[in-house]
Amino acid sequence: MKVAVVQETGPGERRVALVPEAVAKLRSAGHEVLVQTGAGAGAFMPDESYSEAGASVVRPDQLADAEAVLMVGKPDAGQIGRMRPGQAVFGMLAPLTDPGLARQLAQAGVTAVSLDLIPRTLSRAQPMDALTSQANIAGYKAAVVAAAAFGRFFPLLITAAGTARPAKVLVLGTGVAGLQAIGTARRLGAVVSAYDVRPETKTEVESLGATFIELTSVGSAAGSGGYARALTDAERAAQQAELADHIARHDVVITTAQVPGRRPPQLVTSEALKSMAPGSVLVDMGASALGGNVEGSAPGETVMTDNGVAIIGADNLPSTMAAAASAMYARNISSLLTYMIKDGALAVDLADELVAGVVVTHEGKVVHPALAEPSEPVPPTEPSELAEPDPPTASGADPASGADPASGADSAPGADPEPPAAQ
Ligand code: NAD
Repeated sequence: MKVAVVQETGPGERRVALVPEAVAKLRSAGHEVLVQTGAGAGAFMPDESYSEAGASVVRPDQLADAEAVLMVGKPDAGQIGRMRPGQAVFGMLAPLTDPGLARQLAQAGVTAVSLDLIPRTLSRAQPMDALTSQANIAGYKAAVVAAAAFGRFFPLLITAAGTARPAKVLVLGTGVAGLQAIGTARRLGAVVSAYDVRPETKTEVESLGATFIELTSVGSAAGSGGYARALTDAERAAQQAELADHIARHDVVITTAQVPGRRPPQLVTSEALKSMAPGSVLVDMGASALGGNVEGSAPGETVMTDNGVAIIGADNLPSTMAAAASAMYARNISSLLTYMIKDGALAVDLADELVAGVVVTHEGKVVHPALAEPSEPVPPTEPSELAEPDPPTASGADPASGADPASGADSAPGADPEPPAAQ
């Protein structure tokens, strides 16, 4: 089979879907690989490294030859325009928050496969779980960014010039990214505490040498599929108030809380920020245009409060470690691709739970159960639909289906452009 790797066009995106090592593996499995010139440049992987691995380095207009186009993010309008009916595109397409893109790909007759929809609990899907691989990188980098911005030491340091006490780090949200942030902050020598609204994470937190904080005002908010549900307004207010005391006692706070399909929950209020000592640092991995885990955070920006607290809005942390992130992503996407190849061609077997979980469009239709499913091939898409996505609809595959939809807490139906968990 012939597969192609495009150059990413997302803002600031440095990752690439296949690294040369992954190209060599696909070549030895008998596949042909086309790589758009410059595709690996952001991850410091020059065209020659791809040629040496057996790829053909080509211009963008030559990618239409391929049966499958591999990418990290979503295709832009120009890339969709160069795709041909019957071609497949693999990427983290975030279709639940951008159903307009799904309609456009269906209209183009493209089979769209979204890695961010992988049914993560299937054991055969583990090597394909790009959300996990990228969240691990983001969690690691968040701790490193926090340490770099903090004007004191993370470890206990005893020197002739004095003794430095270890930094007190608080991690809020202990999913994949949070646990990696805890492990990294611990390895840097910090004293780490952590909190999650799913109390079952306590054992994992403690196994990393951190202290789990239990709030008395909020009970478990475990939703379905291992995810959290959105809190009610009353629960959220109680959580914010009780967390404020803990936040005040820490030097560094790293927030990673997400609820799939919802705006990130706000955990740190401006009142809590006022109680922090000057020089404290927060890294908000939930930072988004509509607000994040920390009040006042902005993606890609560092905001300094009046009392000297730095709020760093994380923005695509995996892209800042493009070489490592691409290597892991390449293994994820190669595993999914080869899983779906049967007898040398891409086989879209929607009877397979894994395949049905990731295929968004096929044969001119949006086929994913979590998106509207027209019985006929979709009508032409208005360009404006891409800018203003519809809300995610039904939810057979929505991991947040255990959420309390009546609460409205932290929800931004129809207006939340953030993917459920990226990062
Ligand atoms: P996520 O990115 O959706 O959320 C990050 C964390 O934020 C979660 O732990 C969540 O409980 C927490 N959170 C949400 N709202 C909160 C609030 N108001 N206050 C405090 N914390 C809040 O999560 P994730 O990292 O994608 O992981 C979600 C789950 O999926 C975990 O249980 C993880 O173990 C599981 N998982 C399973 C597999 C597998 O089975 N192979 C793979 C990956 C992840």
